[in-house]
Amino acid sequence: MAGLRARTPEQLDAMRRAGRVVAEMHHDIRALVAPGVTTAQLDAAARAVLERRGATSNFLGYHGFPAVICASVNEVAIHGIPDDTPLVDGDLLSVDCGAVVDGWHGDAAFTMGVGPLDPTSARLVEVADAALAAGIATLVPGGRVGDYGAAVAATVHGAGFSVLADYVGHGIGTAMHEPPDIPNEGRRGRGPKLRVGATVAVEPMLTAGGPDSVVLDDGWAVATCDGSRAAHVEHTVAIGEDGPEILTRLP
Ligand code: MG
Ligand code: MG
Repeated sequence: MAGLRARTPEQLDAMRRAGRVVAEMHHDIRALVAPGVTTAQLDAAARAVLERRGATSNFLGYHGFPAVICASVNEVAIHGIPDDTPLVDGDLLSVDCGAVVDGWHGDAAFTMGVGPLDPTSARLVEVADAALAAGIATLVPGGRVGDYGAAVAATVHGAGFSVLADYVGHGIGTAMHEPPDIPNEGRRGRGPKLRVGATVAVEPMLTAGGPDSVVLDDGWAVATCDGSRAAHVEHTVAIGEDGPEILTRLP
């Protein structure tokens, strides 16, 4: 199955190093988020980590994308371009970024509040993290991609939220996006089989309203059609003998 090839131990080590850089980017960005800070400043912080680690960005220049992070605020779910608009108290911010080390890729996203969040947004963040955890728990040898989607969708729908339509996770390795697609909805027992050493980027995207979205005039930002807020969380994960190993997390 293309994209779900087993990686060698050396290849997995390179992916661990790439994942570690992504985790450090997340760490430094989270520490900086505050009212008055711009998403362009967050992008600069992410660039500093890449430089410090001698890693390169798999976002910058991707189909012409102009930054090393996607910064998506409030009703923008994914693919927001960083800019000079200051964040304000109560904003819901999703950041997605990646890194390449020795030709191997990492890719991960988180969602957080800028200051205190309204109750629905706070719940959206909690449910996004819970959906990612529930999905990752299914990433075991012999499992199926459909098991992952079923677990994510059950968590999201159980909370009364929607899974963003039309966007999916993916295999990852020597390219950021490799086959197969890993949808956030699915049926248990269906889809490609997971094997030891396979590497995937799984990324629940959810909205507080309906599932439909529209690409904004900048050609990148994907916003909800109904103006409801959205969350996006992601990890790069290796399927180990004993279960999933999250590569984009600090030890
Ligand atoms: Mg990503
Ligand atoms: Mg991804």
